[in-house]
Amino acid sequence: MAYEVIKINPRTWRIEDGGVRIFLLAGDDKALLIDTGMTLPNAAEIARELTDLPLELLNTHADRDHISGNSAFDSFYMSPLEEPNYRSAGGTGTIKPVSQGDTIDLGGRVLEIVDLPGHTPGSIAVLDPECRALISGDPIQDGRIFMFGRFRDLSKYAGSLEALSAFDGRYDEIWPSHGSFPVSPSLVPQLRAAADIILNGRAEGKKVEFMGNSITEYDMGVAVFLCD
Ligand SMILES: [Zn+2]
Repeated sequence: MAYEVIKINPRTWRIEDGGVRIFLLAGDDKALLIDTGMTLPNAAEIARELTDLPLELLNTHADRDHISGNSAFDSFYMSPLEEPNYRSAGGTGTIKPVSQGDTIDLGGRVLEIVDLPGHTPGSIAVLDPECRALISGDPIQDGRIFMFGRFRDLSKYAGSLEALSAFDGRYDEIWPSHGSFPVSPSLVPQLRAAADIILNGRAEGKKVEFMGNSITEYDMGVAVFLCD
C-alpha cells in the first residue's frame, strides 16, 4: 500500500497512509507504534524497518481506520472501554488495558495516557514529554470529526476537552490522526466551543448522505462535525 514515512526527530516518525496518520516513538529500550492505519496491514513491518528495538502497539481507539495492521500483534495497549468497538470491527488479539494516569516507559522516554472519551468510549491520547506533544487520535483535529452512529457521545466529547485543561502547559503541539499536522493547543477550546454550539441546538446543520448513512454535517469552521 502507498504510504509516506516522515521523520519528526531521530527517534520519532509519522507514517501517512493518505487517509490517516500513525506514529512510531522509540525510547532507549523499546519502541511504540501508535495505531496501524486504514490501509497498512504491514504497519509492523514498516516500523521494524525504522527501528531494531522491541516493538509494542497502542491504539488511540478502535475505529477501522486505525487498526488495519493490528493482527501482527498478539497484544496491544488500548482502553478497555474500546473493546466492544474493537471486536465489532473484527479486531483480534489481547487488550492490555490503559487509562488516564497510566504510563508506558520506553526507556528514557515515559509516555502518559490521557482519556478523551466521546468520539468513541475509549478514545485515548498519548502525552510525549520528550516532544512536548499530545498525540490525540481523532477527537482533536481540524478535519472531519465523526460523531454519528454507534459509540459516539458529543456531550462526553465536550467534557473530555474541558477536562484536558488539567494538562495545559505540558504540551506545545497536538499531533492528530487526521487533518493538519501539527495543530495548536488553542484548537482544544475552539473545538469545545463548537461542540457546545451543536449541543445547544444553535448550529446550522446540513442533511447529507455519507458512507450509506443519513447524517447531519456541521461545518463549524474549526472542523466539520458529522453527527446523527
Ligand atoms: Zn479516524
